[in-house]
Amino acid sequence: MSVFSEVELGEPVEMFYLKKAYLEDKFENKVFLSVGAYRTDEGKPWVLPVVKSLEKILSHDESLNKEYLPTLGLETFSTSATTMLLGLDSPAIIQKRYCGIQSISGTGSLRIGAEFLVKMGKKIFYVSNPTWENHKRLFLQAGFEECREYRYWNPTTRRIDFEGLIDDLDKAPQDAVVILHVCAHNPTGVDPTPEQWSKIANIIHKRRLFPFFDCAFQGFVTGNVISDAYSIRLFVSLGFELFCAQSFSKNFGLYNERIGNLTIVVNNPDLIPAIKSQITYIVNGMYLNPPGLCARIVTYVLNNSTMYNQWQDNVRTMSSRLLLMRKQLKEILDHLETPGNWDHLVEHSGFFSYTGLTPVQVEYMVNKYHIYMLASGRMSIAGLNSSNVYYVAKAIYDTVSL
Ligand code: PMP
Repeated sequence: MSVFSEVELGEPVEMFYLKKAYLEDKFENKVFLSVGAYRTDEGKPWVLPVVKSLEKILSHDESLNKEYLPTLGLETFSTSATTMLLGLDSPAIIQKRYCGIQSISGTGSLRIGAEFLVKMGKKIFYVSNPTWENHKRLFLQAGFEECREYRYWNPTTRRIDFEGLIDDLDKAPQDAVVILHVCAHNPTGVDPTPEQWSKIANIIHKRRLFPFFDCAFQGFVTGNVISDAYSIRLFVSLGFELFCAQSFSKNFGLYNERIGNLTIVVNNPDLIPAIKSQITYIVNGMYLNPPGLCARIVTYVLNNSTMYNQWQDNVRTMSSRLLLMRKQLKEILDHLETPGNWDHLVEHSGFFSYTGLTPVQVEYMVNKYHIYMLASGRMSIAGLNSSNVYYVAKAIYDTVSL
């Protein structure tokens, strides 16, 4: 009899079994459209050239070593990361009403932020319906008692259900935490317009809710990290206290290095030392301290104009390839006279789009064409390339024409 004999097998995660099925599939022209990472036009992972050159430079720097970083990470990193998010002219930065905390990528930043909010007495959190599947698990595991959803996706228009969103947030109890995607909403690809963001800010203020932003794709909507931070900069300019979990997985391609930052903005700078001391306890009890090399890479880039420009070029290379794939897919679908309207593919942005394909249609695409997508119809645009985009479009045409 083992201590673990009663352990039940957990439910398989859709993404993982889909990946396994794809890898085992012997079909030559199989396509994986569930990938959560950037791929080149050759379908390969990409180490950003700016990251490669910095790895070389840093490996020769005799002043660096592998000693532990402080519990809250490199301060130069977190200050630079927060500045990249909020802008040098941000009132929170000028008035020193902020702090940044280096953490284990976006996920770890969400987790330490969520745990801290639980300690502050928060119990209920709201996520968009749908949202990144890990949000619910992560906040519940951090100690939140209840997850509620606000409407987000309208399957008929394939755009945002804005009235539903406002209606749901207008009924939220005071003090509830609301998770908002800064840009490039995962999984739908639909972001609110500037005008809609203002209305969201009004309702969050009116209902006294707490905004917790998730910033996993800064740079992937417009190719420019400044304009992509519009939503959070708006909230800060309106005087909100807020959290934001920043991920450098996608915009630096540092997926497995686990580099992220929790930005905290408060209304009184005197509160910062106490907040940092409490988060120090949380981090100490969880992973002691974060990794070094990736923090040094990001810090170097954000503080060196030559490297920064190279990095911006790298971000534009990725974001423009994704835009091109969206455009080509839509053009081919239109050219084939595919039933339905496909404008949403180019109106959406970032890594993902909700295509509008139903679970039955997705299953057909997997079985007949060996094209692997989540049952929700979410397509990872990064999985498209010039060699497979026609094949995918033709498969969609055949599937929706049935
Ligand atoms: N938030 C969203 C919306 C995401 O899609 C992801 C990963 N794809 C993350 C956070 C976390 O990513 P990471 O932990 O790699 O930074």
